[in-house]
Amino acid sequence: MLNIIFGPIHSRRFGKSLGVDLSPGLKQCNFDCLYCELAPAPTMDAYVDVVSVEEIVSAIKQALEVHKDIDFITLTANGEPTLYPHLSELIDEINTFKGNTKTLILTNAANIDDVKIQDALLKLDEVKLSLDCATQKCLQKLDRSHSGIDVENIKAGMLEFRTKYTGSLIIEILIVKTLNDSKEEIDKLNAFLLKLNPTRIDISSIDRPPAYAVQAVSYEDLLSISHLFDSSLAVYIASRKKAEMTASPYSDEEILDTLDKRPLTLEDIEVLFDEQSQNRVQNLLRKDKIKSVSTNGVEFYKKA
Ligand code: SF4
Repeated sequence: MLNIIFGPIHSRRFGKSLGVDLSPGLKQCNFDCLYCELAPAPTMDAYVDVVSVEEIVSAIKQALEVHKDIDFITLTANGEPTLYPHLSELIDEINTFKGNTKTLILTNAANIDDVKIQDALLKLDEVKLSLDCATQKCLQKLDRSHSGIDVENIKAGMLEFRTKYTGSLIIEILIVKTLNDSKEEIDKLNAFLLKLNPTRIDISSIDRPPAYAVQAVSYEDLLSISHLFDSSLAVYIASRKKAEMTASPYSDEEILDTLDKRPLTLEDIEVLFDEQSQNRVQNLLRKDKIKSVSTNGVEFYKKA
């Protein structure tokens, strides 16, 4: 039997998530990202190996019988889940039995300009779209997109989808050394994201062995990159490598200055600020100089 279900995986942000692989047999993707954790593969614009909706639904139902406390059903793939030809029908089916469990898709967004894909995604509770590049040159080099995929269409599709979608829209940016970490590329991403106004932006770097010889950026680099985004955007550093940083002392003023430049999560605060400074944060919170705002599972601290 194919491995359609994986997990549940427990994460601070999503709680208990049940992964559903829409391409369990082989990698089927319209990108061949340099950082992909799957082996390199030729790109395609349609699945050649398709599992039936019935088979996927039955696998999910069986898993939900075993795991009664799932918070999220996460649609993903060994490749790109929106290339699954029966996506809309599958989501309709899941919605008939999911109850209070939320649904989420992780997609590279290459098809987000397709109204049929938008209509399918509208039926999900949360949508996470990848956007590593704001320029076509970067997209072709880093994500090695299938021919005909144009970053301008992706951006236009995202903006169109944003006007219709009422759920949580998360943008994921994976930063790779020398490929999309320049100020120029980030400035362009920032300008676009200000227009899009997503619920949250997750930035991270490679933390699993990549398909090609590319390098991760450090947590410190991610932190500097996060400062290049407008402070009105909720940027979350989704890195597992935070622990390498040494926490430093911050005065009240420095804390307020830092939070003015960019809202920080509790995780960031624990990494960056030493214990006394963390106590100062709590004091400033009590004095209403700082406020905490929650954006779908992630708590941000901001200057009040
Ligand atoms: S979009 Fe995802 S699955 Fe496809 S190549 Fe990129 S990282 Fe791999």
